[in-house]
Amino acid sequence: MSSVSIVKCENYDRERVLEAVRKAFDLIGGIKKYIKPGMNVALKPNLLTRKSPDSAATVHPEVVYAVGVLVKEAGGHPKIVESPGGPYSAAMLKAVYSGCGITKIAKEAGIELNYDTSIVDIENPEGLYLKKLTVLKPLVDADFIIDLPKLKTHGQMLYTGAIKNMFGAIPGTEKAEYHLRMHHYRDFANTLIDIYLSVKPGLVLMDAVTAMEGMGPSNGTPRDLGLLLASDNGFDLDLAAATLIHINPEWIPVLAEGVKRGYCKDSVDLIQVVGEDLKSRIVYDFKTPPYDTLHRIDFTQRSLFGKAFQIFTPYPRFHLDKCIGCGICSKSCPPQVIQMEDKLPRVDLNRCIRCFCCQELCPEGAIDIKRRLLAAKWLNGRKTTDN
Ligand code: SF4
Ligand code: SF4
Repeated sequence: MSSVSIVKCENYDRERVLEAVRKAFDLIGGIKKYIKPGMNVALKPNLLTRKSPDSAATVHPEVVYAVGVLVKEAGGHPKIVESPGGPYSAAMLKAVYSGCGITKIAKEAGIELNYDTSIVDIENPEGLYLKKLTVLKPLVDADFIIDLPKLKTHGQMLYTGAIKNMFGAIPGTEKAEYHLRMHHYRDFANTLIDIYLSVKPGLVLMDAVTAMEGMGPSNGTPRDLGLLLASDNGFDLDLAAATLIHINPEWIPVLAEGVKRGYCKDSVDLIQVVGEDLKSRIVYDFKTPPYDTLHRIDFTQRSLFGKAFQIFTPYPRFHLDKCIGCGICSKSCPPQVIQMEDKLPRVDLNRCIRCFCCQELCPEGAIDIKRRLLAAKWLNGRKTTDN
């Protein structure tokens, strides 16, 4: 039976993080249970986009440093492998590594940074939708993968953690294809599960020292939780993390679909938690993006409901006063419903699939997620940033 360890870590002081990460791994059997001498180990951090560590949008570099050091202690060769949003190129990787503080710690810890942008087609026998897919070759070439998510809210999927972080195994802009093909939340959740199963990370270490609440995954608010979580089962870890931030796991499409497919337990009481007492650490006022039942209706139903869908579902709201006209939202919109006119974005909400890629990748935080006032009044019972 796998277990989830929860360990206190009050800040990102290097020695403190190293000690806490070591303890988190020790509580589930120790890193040497997983990493054998000579293994090539891919570290897959959440480096969604070029953001300073203080923004809490990406895994803190000190967490990556600590995991790299422990992998080396166990005799492994760590290499950081990630495909952030946007084009998958060596230049983009260089900019993101540097902007997220990863270049510096990689040098200090002697961790290799991946610049090999080759991709490979793989079979995925456990996949429900994706029996074959194209992923980053350096991940497939590794002997072992350590998944390094950040605990954050997510505009489209409500929460992002261990399972969602492996979406970064899909090269660059190909991710938009998945949003387009799988725009129902249930289908997209199953796609994320398929991707996770295809690359099979053997260990997960989650950075919840400073989490992100509100308009995650990139423009939310940092929230200190002072915790690290570890497990060799990403579903168990995500279930524990969702409980920690007081989100009903049934509302999180990845966990709800994971239960149906037999990968995820349907109650946190069924997982073994070691270290800190999970229930006494629950953060009852953790803020989520606007989210409700109507947010989850599928596209066929959306056409039937027509206007009702447009009125009741949260939508991307553009704050043009903050916009610098970079056009990233337009380039990253899967159905191409954002046009740049006079260097300002204009969105056709009637054709918007509510994937919130634009909100996720806007470098200026100029897009948030808004529910119309009428809907906000009518729908109650959810704690969100706008009610
Ligand atoms: S990504 Fe943000 S800053 Fe860039 S054009 Fe779109 S709204 Fe403006
Ligand atoms: S406008 Fe934003 S939320 Fe709508 S489809 Fe485009 S990227 Fe997705």
